[in-house]
Amino acid sequence: MLSLKKIVKVYKSNNIECKALDNLSLELPDKGLVAIFGSSGCGKSTLLNIIGGLDNFDSGDIFFEGRSVKAFSKRDWDAYRNQHVGFVFQNYYLMPHLNVKENISLSLKMSHQEENIDEKVEEVLKEVGLSGYGKRLPKTLSGGQQQRVAIARAIITSPTIILADEPTGALDAKNSESIMKLLKKISQDRLVVLVTHDQKLAEKYADRLVEISYGKII
Ligand code: ADP
Ligand code: MG
Repeated sequence: MLSLKKIVKVYKSNNIECKALDNLSLELPDKGLVAIFGSSGCGKSTLLNIIGGLDNFDSGDIFFEGRSVKAFSKRDWDAYRNQHVGFVFQNYYLMPHLNVKENISLSLKMSHQEENIDEKVEEVLKEVGLSGYGKRLPKTLSGGQQQRVAIARAIITSPTIILADEPTGALDAKNSESIMKLLKKISQDRLVVLVTHDQKLAEKYADRLVEISYGKII
């Protein structure tokens, strides 16, 4: 479904160049859990942001469903980001003044899926193990529960790809395992690309492991 060909990404600041991705090629399957791991600064977040259309690249190409993203119009990019991709981050990024249900339904509103919001939220809360938590504010939840809400928010629009950048980075071992189990479960019918520096966790749960060093797959 997604194929990256010789992607190069160079950051330039104060006349210093940093090659974050160096001719990186990667074929991603339609389903399953793909873990990208490597030491800090090796290019993992850059790669995930480029896959999700949050950042541009200098050369190479990405093919989505056989089509080069170079041919994407602004509208195509919006549709890709809104309908095909869901993001999960280390620090959850929940809106603190909105309750769980409101946080999750925001995602439906942003992608113009405003029918049956109540039913959809109920269903997704059940899927992530948080039935009955809809009225709670994020600050009343544990880190693991907040990450479940963020995952619910990402999957409620039924994207084909979930991109998760260090989703267990702020969690203890027990909560990390349960978030990995949840990501594994949701990867049964969609692609989940997970970035982590925790090789052990990656090895335990991923269907496929990709190790990156200095912007290259090793
Ligand atoms: P990782 O997620 O694996 O820790 P990143 O993809 O965040 O790594 O970063 C890869 C490299 O690119 C690092 O050397 C980092 O310092 C550099 N980098 C990342 N973002 C920027 C930026 N906005 N400007 C300049 N350099 C950056
Ligand atoms: Mg990172």
